[in-house]
Amino acid sequence: MNKNEAAEILKLLDKMYPNPRTDLLFNNSFELLIAVMLSAQTTDKQVNRVTEKLFKKYPTPWDFINLTPEELEKDIKKCGLFRNKSRNIVTTANIIVQEYNGKVPDRLEQLLKLPGVGRKTASVVLANAFGIPAFPVDTHVYRVSYRLGLAGGKNPLVTEKELKEIIPESLWNKAHHWLIAHGRTFCSARRPQCQECPLLDYCKNGKKNIL
Ligand code: SF4
Repeated sequence: MNKNEAAEILKLLDKMYPNPRTDLLFNNSFELLIAVMLSAQTTDKQVNRVTEKLFKKYPTPWDFINLTPEELEKDIKKCGLFRNKSRNIVTTANIIVQEYNGKVPDRLEQLLKLPGVGRKTASVVLANAFGIPAFPVDTHVYRVSYRLGLAGGKNPLVTEKELKEIIPESLWNKAHHWLIAHGRTFCSARRPQCQECPLLDYCKNGKKNIL
């Protein structure tokens, strides 16, 4: 696919999903970081239910460093994988307090050194908390960009690189939300609604699906 074709797709996505944003609720970069760490293998809705109470109880990184992982487990149990998540969150809070004076770092390399923070989580924080151009590749972005031909679907890292090449940097933060929204609305993993999809004319996969 060339950049002009990609631009056409992006124009349509912009119309379909204006003002895109993450469904996770947060008031600051620390809350977003914890919310994203909790979001593995669960829904954003479930994370929001848990964090509403969690951040009232423990509003700052300093409150988290006084906890043992076992104590935190009770508060985040409903998000699943709670043992690992709990351990990573307490350690991450300690690093943020000790090394960054309580502020979440805003550089990819620094974020990636925090336990439990992978490339996708770090990119979500950069894009949504700091407004720094990034392209988090989650399961929706990976699948939808492959089906549309925006990326080759080799692996998430290559997909991120390909998307960053074909999409202007000024649109990265919006485009990742557009692809997520499209994955949730029309282009689900099991039953994509190709017949109704406004992107069908641009989508080779969709055209094959409706034959
Ligand atoms: Fe997904 Fe089908 Fe739309 Fe292509 S046409 S983007 S495969 S829903």
